[in-house]
Amino acid sequence: MRKLIVAGNWKMNKSLQEGIELAKAVNEKVNGQKALVVLCTPFIHLTEVKKVINKSTLFLGAQNCSSKPAGAYTGEISASMIKSTGADYVIIGHSERRMYFKETDSTLNKKVRLALENELIPIYCCGEVLPEREADRHLDVVSRQINEGLFSLSTKEFSKVVIAYEPVWAIGTGVNATPGQAQEMHAYIRSLIAGKYGKEVAEDTTIQYGGSCKPSNARELFANPDVDGGLIGGASLEAEDFVAIVNSF
Ligand code: PEP
Repeated sequence: MRKLIVAGNWKMNKSLQEGIELAKAVNEKVNGQKALVVLCTPFIHLTEVKKVINKSTLFLGAQNCSSKPAGAYTGEISASMIKSTGADYVIIGHSERRMYFKETDSTLNKKVRLALENELIPIYCCGEVLPEREADRHLDVVSRQINEGLFSLSTKEFSKVVIAYEPVWAIGTGVNATPGQAQEMHAYIRSLIAGKYGKEVAEDTTIQYGGSCKPSNARELFANPDVDGGLIGGASLEAEDFVAIVNSF
């Protein structure tokens, strides 16, 4: 049975003190939900947030990791360093990393491998930009991102990966994909996985939706048979909104 997972991506928001308060508030409010919950905080928050989350279904994640294992790479944070904070997840290939930091599918493949080697679960992001959707190229774009970023993994490695479909035109814009658009892409991604790793692996893979997901639309997005949770940006910065989304299953 695949897991339902809702992850909050705080991005570059919250001072350390504000982050601790937010994590405490989420920790207090989550209770008995169907989905696993992950807080993907800035690096500097990880260790302190870990101390204040104690619910059995609440996990810690980072938002990126280096494509290098260790060494003279000033300013970088490795997958093994992230693991040493007590984190279990790491977002890889968020569209903001692809866009602003020019991360390519082949770099992201290295990051995914390092995450897995260090027993972190990669949340691998994919999604098309608006001109690609308008040109009806969205399926091809996502197929390339998944092929190049993930499909060199062994079945055992791939079965640990979580995928987040995030249409770039929906991120932070207030315009979410319709439930139909999300379901179409999620079913397509699952068919790609089935073609590569077999039906059983495909059925077990968690595929999250991300892009302007909020309490008012989460229920209809999550009601789709192939939508197994969400990657939540803006709405994860308020405990009440985030937990309302978590409770939308
Ligand atoms: C994100 O950045 O992963 C995201 C989905 O952002 P938002 O929810 O704000 O659109």
